[in-house]
Amino acid sequence: MLSTLKGMLMTLRTSLRKPVTAQYPKEHLPLMERQVGFPALTWDADVSEPYCVGCMVCVRMCPTQCMSGTMIDNPHHAEGKSTRRKIIEEFEINLGRCILCGLCVEVCNFDAIEMSHEHEISHFARNGRRSDLPVLLEMGKKYQSETNWISPAVKKAAIAAEKAAAAPAAEAGETKEDVSAVADETEGEAK
Ligand code: SF4
Ligand code: SF4
Repeated sequence: MLSTLKGMLMTLRTSLRKPVTAQYPKEHLPLMERQVGFPALTWDADVSEPYCVGCMVCVRMCPTQCMSGTMIDNPHHAEGKSTRRKIIEEFEINLGRCILCGLCVEVCNFDAIEMSHEHEISHFARNGRRSDLPVLLEMGKKYQSETNWISPAVKKAAIAAEKAAAAPAAEAGETKEDVSAVADETEGEAK
């Protein structure tokens, strides 16, 4: 009898507790800040073109060989609008085969690919998640706006410029301190 009551009490307590899980797919828990989703291509809004120059390093390094692409001469470069001599023409990632290893992001020297927040990719068709250039760029643009994305190269240059600007000020501060230390010493000796 006592154990039955204990059991009922436990059931009641558990049923009143706030749930820690969500009824997916009806409910979606908020994504963690560093949540990793599928790879997406970034967009350079300054010149209206992808960052990707089609070097194919990621394609060669992908362990599941789910990427492919082709490059062309960049017409923006010919017009003097872009520094990229080559640009991606076609690109495809079969997201159904991607294992989210992030190697493509690691090896890209052009900040052209990022692990986005996109993670819901189930599809009825076997090859339903073959994603082409426009789809990958849309995913990238979404990720860039969600995270206020700045190219790591631009970020690095800004930090270097900040450091360079701060260096003369720090040196000037040191010189000031040295001068006052020398002045104090001189005053001490005079006394
Ligand atoms: S995403 Fe990066 S590594 Fe891959 S083809 Fe484009 S520029 Fe090259
Ligand atoms: S995350 Fe890994 S498996 Fe997916 S496309 Fe990039 S390299 Fe290939």
